Amino acid sequence: IERTFSIIKPDAVAKNVIGQIYNRFETAGLKIVASKMLHLSQEQAEGFYAEHKERPFYAPLVEFMTSGPIMVQVLEGENAIARNREIMGATNPEEALAGTIRADLAGSMRENCAHGSDSIASASREIAYFFSDDEIC
Ligand code: ATP
Ligand code: MG
Repeated sequence: IERTFSIIKPDAVAKNVIGQIYNRFETAGLKIVASKMLHLSQEQAEGFYAEHKERPFYAPLVEFMTSGPIMVQVLEGENAIARNREIMGATNPEEALAGTIRADLAGSMRENCAHGSDSIASASREIAYFFSDDEIC
């Protein structure tokens, strides 16, 4: 059984669709085994997206991710990493398949509602970035 790390980004929290996104996780067979709301500091957001530091979208991404509260969660299930990315849809909501979170709810490439780990290595790094072992059930 696999675990992945997920963020419901500030745009989705502001749109009041936390429950709707949680429902999609559960319908897809992903179990929420840890969850909390937080408002990222500049340092937390910069550290989380450090791999993108040289990209032109990095500074506006950090600004967006610190613009309001987010939900962070650990999802567990068979092929959780790939399954979560499948139900999120493509990074660009215009390219995301109908029925995915981003196609249905996201407004732009930057404000695209959700984050999901893209590998086993990033899942364990990202889970540890936000959760201690005793916060995961
Ligand atoms: P995430 O890592 O959030 O799950 P992803 O893996 O689909 O999304 P990445 O390439 O890792 O996409 O980029 C991280 C985030 O940076 C994207 O989700 C999006 O919010 C933002 N982003 C990526 N590319 C662009 C871009 N060209 N313009 C604006 N924002 C972008
Ligand atoms: Mg990514």
